[in-house]
Amino acid sequence: MNHFAAIREKLNDYGIDAMLLTCAANRYYASGFASTGTDGVAFITRDQTYYFTDFRYIEAANAQVKDAVIEMTKSGRGYVTLLNEAIEKHHIKRIGFEDAYMTVAEYNIYRDKLNCELVPATDLLTRLRMVKDADELETLVAAQRIAERALEEIYNDIRVGVTEKEIAARLTYLMLHYGAENMSFDPIVVSGANGSMPHGVPGEKTIADGDFVTMDFGCIYRGYCSDMTRTVAVGHVTEEMNRAYQTVLRAQLAGIERAKAGVSGHDIDAAARDIITAEGYGKYFGHSFGHGVGVEIHEAPNASPNYKGMLPAGAVISAEPGIYLPGRFGVRIEDVIVLREDGCDNITKAPKELLIL
Ligand code: ZN
Ligand code: ZN
Repeated sequence: MNHFAAIREKLNDYGIDAMLLTCAANRYYASGFASTGTDGVAFITRDQTYYFTDFRYIEAANAQVKDAVIEMTKSGRGYVTLLNEAIEKHHIKRIGFEDAYMTVAEYNIYRDKLNCELVPATDLLTRLRMVKDADELETLVAAQRIAERALEEIYNDIRVGVTEKEIAARLTYLMLHYGAENMSFDPIVVSGANGSMPHGVPGEKTIADGDFVTMDFGCIYRGYCSDMTRTVAVGHVTEEMNRAYQTVLRAQLAGIERAKAGVSGHDIDAAARDIITAEGYGKYFGHSFGHGVGVEIHEAPNASPNYKGMLPAGAVISAEPGIYLPGRFGVRIEDVIVLREDGCDNITKAPKELLIL
């Protein structure tokens, strides 16, 4: 899948004649071609799309990039030269660039050497990427299914004496085994008192009887990310652990219930936060309810207290409230939902009733 045409349609709205894509995420979204790092430039003009890359990627680009003129850089004929040739050919005056991604050094080179004006236009891509089309949704669901298969199996490995790191390694293996290209991020596996650190790093701590184990993980499949969190108990739970768990679950369901197109990120977050606050845990839920998920693991839009904008139909966001009691334990439950006009679809199917292993 590529999104060259969708980008082209928006050029007028941003008062630009062409869009220059240099960051990996936007280049992938635009072209459907997964190359790495800073190689490669996609250049979408009103009447032609170009994909410029170097020798290392040219064979793969020729096979995978559709609907674009593909050219290879050569010694003395780098990206600036290729871009300037296209600028001249199409009489381009203003180019949109990714102000939120481009480094200052890159910007200085393009500003000095390209024969046109550079206009900040990250927003064009951010807004397009916010609304997922049918192909993207199908891919996001497939990525989610892989993570869920890994989850089902990891339950066999969670027991007293196993380290957090071993579980993280096994989750990584299982997701790759079931078809993932890579991880969306390094899996978070935290247990017992470590669970109060929402983004703790899995370490040598062994799982003990009476621990909560929180696993936050996801994989990349065909360039799109999955993201999910489950917290399970080992052996037994205290009354307070149970209360915290049930509160997080109720909060998550309330947020999901509130989530639909046309509702603000703030209001979705508040639906969940109010429940946690009412139970007296308000100050122990220090992050937002959710973030957009797509080509990047964190992208627009957000379901957070500061996000007053309305979320559009087709937005894909996480639903991940938590309670973190420092030095004691933590709970987080995370699904991924797709916003519709009349509600939302939860694409995460794994059960989330309290599981005691
Ligand atoms: Zn997550
Ligand atoms: Zn997340």
